[in-house]
Order: sequence, then structure tokens, then C-alpha cells
Amino acid sequence: MSDADTLFERIIAREIPAEIVHETETTLAFRDINPQASTHVLVVPKKRYRNVAELASADPRLLADVIGTAAEVAKLEGLTQGGYRVVFNTDSDAGQTVFHVHAHVLGGEQLGHFGR
Ligand code: C5P
Repeated sequence: MSDADTLFERIIAREIPAEIVHETETTLAFRDINPQASTHVLVVPKKRYRNVAELASADPRLLADVIGTAAEVAKLEGLTQGGYRVVFNTDSDAGQTVFHVHAHVLGGEQLGHFGR
């Protein structure tokens, strides 16, 4: 991808700090700097795709890795009993601000219904 690096490439390269909670060969999970729930972790593939649709069509195995890491994070963070939410904001109507695909893993409390 020819755009300038996003913040997440710089976190993956350890050029800027983040609180990393899990890492695999292909993914990295770190705490969101502005948490929207008691637990709010972002999971990114180390290889950059703009959004989940591009990732799904270009590399479905890597998308499976992202989902697998999200499930592992939920276990590590103690969310599996109460449950949790995995969200991919995709482009402007959903409020995507960082154009390196990322799964939000949210939980640790009763979450509000989503929508507007
Ligand atoms: O889905 P969206 O693109 O809006 O999510 C980007 C997320 O990245 C936000 O939840 C924001 O708080 C988070 N972020 C972060 N660390 C940064 C900059 C943004 O965790 N340094």
C-alpha cells in the first residue's frame, strides 16, 4: 500500500509505545488508548490492509488469524464467561479513523446495544 504508514505500522514496528497484550507471528493485540469499555483491545494483522473487506478478499487466512487472536485475547482478559464484542469499523459511516484494519475487542461489563 502506498499511503504513508499509519499509526499502527509504527506500533507494530515498536516505534511508538503501546500496551501489548498478545502477539502471534501474523498479528498484534494492544490496548486501545481511549477505551470504550472496561476491556478494549485492538487486534491488527501485521500486514496492512485498509479495512476488513480488503483483508477478507486478499487474505482470508490472515482474517482468520485476526479473529483467532481476538478470541485468544478474550480468554487472556477473562471475558469468555460474560461474553464480549468484536467490531470492525469500516470506512467513514462507521467512523473508521485508522486505515489499517483492526478488530476492536470490547467487554468486561454489560455493553450497550450498538447502532446510532
Ligand atoms: O475503528 P477506528 O479506526 O475508529 O479505531 C481506531 C482506534 O484506535 C480508536 O479506538 C482509538 O482510540 C485507537 N487508537 C489507539 N492508539 C493510538 C491512536 C488511536 O489505540 N495511538
